[in-house]
Amino acid sequence: MTTLLIKNTDVLVTKCDGPTSAEIKQGAILVENNRIVWVGPTAELERYLAETRPDLARDGFNQTVDASGCVVIPGLVNCHHHLYQTLTRTVGTGTGMVLFDWLKFLYPIWAEMTPEAVYVSAKIGLSELVLSGCTTVADHLYLYPNGSKIDDEIRAAQEVGVRFHPTRGSMSLGQSQGGLPPDRVCDTEPDIIKDCIRAIETFHDPNPLSMLRIGVAPCSPFSVTEALMRESVELARQYPLVNLHTHLAETKDEERFCLEMFGKRPLEYAESLNWAGEDVWFAHMVHPNEAEVDWLAQTHSGVCHCPTSNMLLASGIAPVRQMLDKNVRVGLGVDGSASNDGNHMLGEARQAMLLQRVGWPGFESRADRLTAREALSIATVGGANVLRRDDIAELSPGKAADFVAFRVDDLPHAGSLADPVAALLTCAPPRAWLSVINGRIVVEDGQFLPFDLRPVIDRHNQLSREMMQRAGVTR
Ligand SMILES: [Zn+2]
Repeated sequence: MTTLLIKNTDVLVTKCDGPTSAEIKQGAILVENNRIVWVGPTAELERYLAETRPDLARDGFNQTVDASGCVVIPGLVNCHHHLYQTLTRTVGTGTGMVLFDWLKFLYPIWAEMTPEAVYVSAKIGLSELVLSGCTTVADHLYLYPNGSKIDDEIRAAQEVGVRFHPTRGSMSLGQSQGGLPPDRVCDTEPDIIKDCIRAIETFHDPNPLSMLRIGVAPCSPFSVTEALMRESVELARQYPLVNLHTHLAETKDEERFCLEMFGKRPLEYAESLNWAGEDVWFAHMVHPNEAEVDWLAQTHSGVCHCPTSNMLLASGIAPVRQMLDKNVRVGLGVDGSASNDGNHMLGEARQAMLLQRVGWPGFESRADRLTAREALSIATVGGANVLRRDDIAELSPGKAADFVAFRVDDLPHAGSLADPVAALLTCAPPRAWLSVINGRIVVEDGQFLPFDLRPVIDRHNQLSREMMQRAGVTR
């Protein structure tokens, strides 16, 4: 048994739940192995130990961290990502491209990806996420060129030590069949289904406190066939807690594509394929109409909001306020690092807060459309709900020991004493000072502990350069 005590936090946020959050001043958290056993004011710890745990009162703890000057919150949950895209950051986004043009430009470069590139890019993206306060990550890997496998990113996640929900993505509708991607980055349906089964049966752990759960994730209406969408639903529902994920209602171009190709709007199309329910979550959901927001709520289907990507690719503004008001499950994601181009999860919560406050056609500007605590709620409990996890995103006895500390006594937060929790989003987004995932310290004193990042960054840049050269894109 190992024990870890975090004490003297300026504020300990035990749960961010909508507009309110449960907060303890001068808080402490006691962890045993990978679970939280006690939270409360630091001043009450001694009494708790004397009454309940005389063994710990006598023997002390394996590790103690004094978190004075910090706000501690539940670890952030990232619900949508394409980790491999760190290899092509800023391609097309600097100058500005809309989704379909951006994808068509990038597919040939991504076709040059190797198993090592998948592995190294996942290490880069996950490390950056962890340093931004993220402890649980869902990824969507939807192309597997040159022998790449989902195993390559799983190996990276295990080395980083993050709680991981990789989804076995897929593309099967190539250009020759009216789809958007070139045929050479698409796979056949039998091969895709076979590998989904292999991934689930090799890696999926449905147990509480699981560090690894597999999802099934055909990429989007414009890159997979109807048959594969149907087969994916049937497959996932044969296993406990295997979720279904896809991109949906991201752009007006996608809406036009669905109307022309299937004679249905994107959500009508999803509904016709049985893609609805608590085991389904959709990335983006920028363009649902009011009836479709109701449908999301009635069917308990989840949504991952990706504000930075929606801004960079000019996709639009998702009606997050409307979805929250109707009790749609909404989580947050940074999306792929080629349409963000960052992996800063706390920064993404800030983007969500800022973007909702902006006015757009049909919506007046409203400063209170999304508060800082609501944005933190989407980024924690919201994401956990979308991934169907009740064992994370809350700091209370029995839950997973996943939490992060941010310093609020530093330069960017000077003068923010009135509300240090809101300051995490209203001031410039800081990096994590401490990160504990599954009871293990992954970031300490701002330093990333699992491995030396320098050689990984250098190798990543070399792999990126080689992919560009093979694809004939000079850089
Ligand atoms: Zn995406």
